[in-house]
Amino acid sequence: MTATDATTLDELDELPPFEAVNRYFDLAADAIDLDEEMRAILTTSYRELSVQVPLRRDDGSLTVAKAYRIHHNGARGPYKGGIRYHERANLDEVRALASLMSWKTALMDLPFGGAKGGIQIDPTGLSAGELERLTRRFTSAILHLIGPFRDIPAPDLNTNAQVMAWLMDEYSAGHGYTPAIVTGKPLALGGAPGREQATGRGCAYVMRAYAEDKGIELDGLRVSIQGFGNVGRWLADELDRLGANVVAVSDVDGGLHDPDGLSVRHLHQAVENGASIHDSGQGTWLPNDELLTLECDMLVPAAIGHVIHVGNAADIAADTIIEAANHPVTPGADAILAERQVTVVPDILANAGGVTGSYFEWTQNIQQFQWSEEKFCDELRRRMEEAYQGVRRRATALDVPLRKAAYAIGIERVAEASRVRGYI
Ligand code: GLU
Repeated sequence: MTATDATTLDELDELPPFEAVNRYFDLAADAIDLDEEMRAILTTSYRELSVQVPLRRDDGSLTVAKAYRIHHNGARGPYKGGIRYHERANLDEVRALASLMSWKTALMDLPFGGAKGGIQIDPTGLSAGELERLTRRFTSAILHLIGPFRDIPAPDLNTNAQVMAWLMDEYSAGHGYTPAIVTGKPLALGGAPGREQATGRGCAYVMRAYAEDKGIELDGLRVSIQGFGNVGRWLADELDRLGANVVAVSDVDGGLHDPDGLSVRHLHQAVENGASIHDSGQGTWLPNDELLTLECDMLVPAAIGHVIHVGNAADIAADTIIEAANHPVTPGADAILAERQVTVVPDILANAGGVTGSYFEWTQNIQQFQWSEEKFCDELRRRMEEAYQGVRRRATALDVPLRKAAYAIGIERVAEASRVRGYI
């Protein structure tokens, strides 16, 4: 089944990840009358690398993981996108995520193309030594593809600044000290103050711009956030600062709910002390899927993909969904939500703060210069607000939902660059 053949909601829900993203692509391509040849270029990836990553475990056994680095489109600049360690990171999933990066970087008008990497492994329980060996093996397998003006990886699900440091070290061993080879690095290696928080904060800036636009008062607004990792955590922090009421959060073990609002400070404290949100001594426990249907004003899936689907879209109680995760809403669910007039602020806008922060980090690395965190956040806020306004204007002009408008802007920019570069 392909994106163009799927007609029923169930068929839409069963599309494999890349076809699902291409379904969103097709809807926007129709709205801007994109020609067939360009569609053929933009709905396939440019280059796909599939490698094996053998990992010698601490107990002496061997795990052989499959891993990928996909380049979707590089017309607008070096390939850019994170690397995830996840059991669901198969070829098609990583391919879908790489294409999302092309639309995201183009929508934000960053001089990057779209890429993604992934190792298909469940990293929970891996020791630091195992993680380091895994990362170095993977880096050496993709070494010929990456470079500071070729392909610049970054963190994604289950990877972090330490993983980026190993990657940078492995690359630098052969090429000389090269901080610009990755973003999301530790500060000690040329990381940018503010980058770690950038996806969550960027998402909050978009939420604020959206709320102002719609005349919604952020003060006291009830927000449920699925996830309290690198995105959810800093998003909760910023929303708390803006006066919103974070009524639920979750991690892989489940959610925490308090209709009167959770103390974000206590959640942070628990996590910083090496405990979990469930040790913060507040709220009631609930399963992760129940968090999604809780009574609240805005729902923010900020963990994994495909969590809002045909099976639960009718039960979402929030008026607005903010996609802080990549691809959390399936095309079938998107259709149901549109029918129910639930607004979806799409991932390529809502979580673009991460790659925008990566752009700041990369440019600083190239110039061997460092901004203050304040300058970083001011510039991030300005760009996120402008991007939101651009999407809103296009949505009004075309009379379409925000997702279609965001894709339309991204696709136009990638198509134009591909055309003038002579791709077809
Ligand atoms: N993994 C993040 C994303 O999905 C950041 C990518 C980057 O900074 O290159 O947008």
